[in-house]
Amino acid sequence: MNNNNKSAVSGRFSVLLVEDNPGDRRLAEFALMQGAEAEDASCDLSPVGSLKEAKRLLEDDDRVFDIVLLDLGLPDAKGIETLGGLRDTDPDIPVVILTGESDDLLAGEALKHGASDYVEKSELGARSLWRAVRYAIERKRHEHELMRLAKTDALTGVRNRRAFFDILERSLENARRTDLCFAVLMIDINGFKQVNDILGHSAGDDLLKTIAGLLTTQLRRTDTVARLGGDEFAVIATNLKSPNSALEIAEKIRRSVREIGALKDSSLRPSASIGIAVYPDDNSPADVLVSHADTAMYRSKRDPAGAAYYYDEAMHREAVHRHKIKTNMISDIKGGKFYLDYQPIVDATTHGIVGLEGLARWKDADDKIIAPSEFIPIAEECGWISTLGAWLIDEACKFILEMEEASLPAIPISINVSPVQCREPGFALEVTSTILRHGVDPALINIEITESAIMQDIETASRSLRLLKDAGLGVHIDDFGTGYSSLSHLKDLPLNHLKVDRSFVSEMMNETGSRRIVAAVAGLAKTLDFKTVAEGVESAEQAQALADLGIDYLQGYYFSRPVSVAHLKHCLANGGCINSGKSARILSLSDRRASRAAAESNG
Ligand code: C2E
Ligand code: CA
Ligand code: CA
Repeated sequence: MNNNNKSAVSGRFSVLLVEDNPGDRRLAEFALMQGAEAEDASCDLSPVGSLKEAKRLLEDDDRVFDIVLLDLGLPDAKGIETLGGLRDTDPDIPVVILTGESDDLLAGEALKHGASDYVEKSELGARSLWRAVRYAIERKRHEHELMRLAKTDALTGVRNRRAFFDILERSLENARRTDLCFAVLMIDINGFKQVNDILGHSAGDDLLKTIAGLLTTQLRRTDTVARLGGDEFAVIATNLKSPNSALEIAEKIRRSVREIGALKDSSLRPSASIGIAVYPDDNSPADVLVSHADTAMYRSKRDPAGAAYYYDEAMHREAVHRHKIKTNMISDIKGGKFYLDYQPIVDATTHGIVGLEGLARWKDADDKIIAPSEFIPIAEECGWISTLGAWLIDEACKFILEMEEASLPAIPISINVSPVQCREPGFALEVTSTILRHGVDPALINIEITESAIMQDIETASRSLRLLKDAGLGVHIDDFGTGYSSLSHLKDLPLNHLKVDRSFVSEMMNETGSRRIVAAVAGLAKTLDFKTVAEGVESAEQAQALADLGIDYLQGYYFSRPVSVAHLKHCLANGGCINSGKSARILSLSDRRASRAAAESNG
């Protein structure tokens, strides 16, 4: 709340005058104005008549005062308590006491309690009052400056070791209270000794200053940057969304240090080794937390690529993996590294193919396939799910057109939509416009959305789903049975299919509860006029039992694993059979009657 520096520089002072006696108030005002004028300064005066009003102004974030002139006999506070009351609101602001003639004792008491000075009202001359005000402000500024210096590293201007540990203790207390996650990063500059030896100490100092500056600009204002000594820096990064975020920060720092490049025409290129410890996963006291981050930093030093390390090994692996996914995802979506495999959905009685579910896949730089369960949550978290989602719809449309061009039969495609994507305002419009742009029959696209996604925000979801259904797409509820939707909700939703969750299918052969749930879903769907699909069918027994319970369609490894477009096209072109592996059935296309019936049920 204090901006002493600012106003002292501009020669403009803002004074809060707390005095209830109108005569004394006038005198003080007059003396101040005169004093300011004599020194070519200017003075904004805000007079109030009670402690309550004074506190209110001090609490007002839009008002900044340099000093308070305080009478100790106010209608709502008397004597030394007046000062205490004021200090409660702003412990830092300089206060000059206005005293009566014989109030020496009280004045002494006030000084002991932190007042800067006192002036007797009977001596309210321009010079005396003005001088007291000026000195009090100056003194406070000096105190602040000294305090700042005591906490600052003289060379670089960032916090020093002592301040760092003070702040770390406070961060720990705060995080314990609020359940927040924060990280300690220990940063060591590689080859710093050579810089000093070869280029001299002033080059070394310059490098430390540059790095301090880089750290300060790279981090948030609420984070702490400190130099603990030598070439050792430390950072406290607070309010982390997850422990993984600390690695992002570390990588940002490493990058920016690398970007400094060669020093003074030498071949010396600074780089940073970084170790990370994260609270609350590491719930150690401050000094131990720092020593853990330090241990991790030494691992980073030994790493040939110089990567940052977590103290916790498991956390390290997880964060590195996610970081890799995050850095490559967007360029890989655009660069054709994503594709869809398709898994057939078959008629429960004829086992003819009635549909295909598109399942996203990502081939990374090492040709390893990353599963959607890994990258979908990250795409959601980073806000890239819409880019991915738009790409998926586009891809499905292209696939349908390819099939058409090859004169292969039209099979409806199901596309999964993430809850995050479904909640976005333009979602339904984007999907339908993509389909129209490609000139694809909307009846050939089904949207799969999980029951829990709908229940999270039923109004938005049902609005989007209504738009999709009205445009002619099919709406299928995925993972049904796990999302606790009530029947009354279901009845009002614009749906075509319910997809019974895999968990019921896998348990139904040895657990009557699951079997009863499947039967209930089949019955419910009949009354509400939805079709049912069971997913995760892995055996002939399951397939038979599901058909017996009245489930309409089946999907699972028993029939076919998800297969590539090439495989699918080849099979369909060669007699319409899919054989996707040792244990899989040989599937044929459903007869035309059945597939027409499936298409109609989408409409
Ligand atoms: P899901 O929609 O429930 O998809 C079915 C998952 O079950 C697929 O896993 C599929 O390969 C697997 N599966 C199929 N048959 C069987 C079986 O008989 N036994 C077993 N154990 N598993 C079977 P996948 O491809 O790893 O997908 C996992 C989840 O990722 C999907 O669950 C879906 O929620 C999400 N996902 C996949 N592709 C996309 C996509 O393109 N967009 C979005 N938003 N989510 C997707
Ligand atoms: Ca699905
Ligand atoms: Ca599912």
